[in-house]
Amino acid sequence: MNHSPADRPDPDHRLTGAIDCDVHPAVPSTRVLLPYLDDYWREHILRRGLERENLELSAYPANAPINGRPDWHLPSGPPGSSLEALQSHILDRLHPSFAICNVLHGAQVMFSEDLSAGLCRGINNWIKAEWLDRDPRLRASIVVPVHSAELAAEEIHRMAPDHRFVQVLLLAMTELPLGRRQNWPIYQAAEQHNLPVGIHAGSSFRHPPSALGWPSYYLEDYVSQGQGFQAALNSLVSEGVFNKFPALKVVLIESGVTWLPASLWRLDKTWRGVRSEVPWLERQPTEVVREHVRLTLQPFDAPPTERQLLTLLEQLGSDRMLLFSTDYPHWHFDGDDALPLGLPADLIRKICLDNPLDTYPRLRT
Ligand code: ZN
Repeated sequence: MNHSPADRPDPDHRLTGAIDCDVHPAVPSTRVLLPYLDDYWREHILRRGLERENLELSAYPANAPINGRPDWHLPSGPPGSSLEALQSHILDRLHPSFAICNVLHGAQVMFSEDLSAGLCRGINNWIKAEWLDRDPRLRASIVVPVHSAELAAEEIHRMAPDHRFVQVLLLAMTELPLGRRQNWPIYQAAEQHNLPVGIHAGSSFRHPPSALGWPSYYLEDYVSQGQGFQAALNSLVSEGVFNKFPALKVVLIESGVTWLPASLWRLDKTWRGVRSEVPWLERQPTEVVREHVRLTLQPFDAPPTERQLLTLLEQLGSDRMLLFSTDYPHWHFDGDDALPLGLPADLIRKICLDNPLDTYPRLRT
């Protein structure tokens, strides 16, 4: 939504004290991870020359405008790779009480599960030393090798004692539908440590984002991520993940929001017809999702009018599901207007503060 300067909400006023649930520090180069790797993996990476690659997790060119707002580009390095820039662009400007760092990196999806785990350990060590230790307003998600639930759970157990890590980060589309039993060690470890699982837009980029095959354009790829989120959510609900792990919360990060009511209507209707197939699913899927699932706000695929926005919020059926986010430094054409127009004031407070605190219990400590 683009507003004219005259009706632009005052972010300094409305967002003060908010919790920004999605910011993206970028690893500036693989070289910076070298001091944070185990000896074995440092030697391995140097021997293979992998430090010369940036190992981006992206379907589009690194310099594409959407990768960063023009005023958030840096003199050198990828957007998001400077703590000082994050401080001046977000922390000292919008004055959030916390911002949750979600590092997106090729480490998460390597074919070699061991290399993936080695690099994820390095990234978690790096974000802790270079970002969390240098600004008390920052929190982070634990980056894990998404294709090995066993190694991912190990990394969750290793990082969980540091309560500045408030979430486990997965991607919407990986080798397996997320609800499948092979992934359950991740959910078990997350639940044990009171960590929600954040599922960010993205994939291992070796499967097309649509079941129809590979798209030609980034436009198709990005919009098709919504299908990936629907499938991931259907999988988590149908496979019984929330029955097995009743304290687990899942945060859909950068999924958009407006697809959800229609998708749940379809899920509820079909469940009523074939529920004998999934007898563990004793409650209507919508009820399960409202209890366990949260969604970050940016980029918000808002309907054209405020009246339609209010209808959509009514269809969501819960004022507890939305979480404030800027998606810094990515640029999805919302400009400075991280909050859509037309949200009631009490809902803004819930989105900015109450809902994130309920979702991320570690933020209270
Ligand atoms: Zn994001």
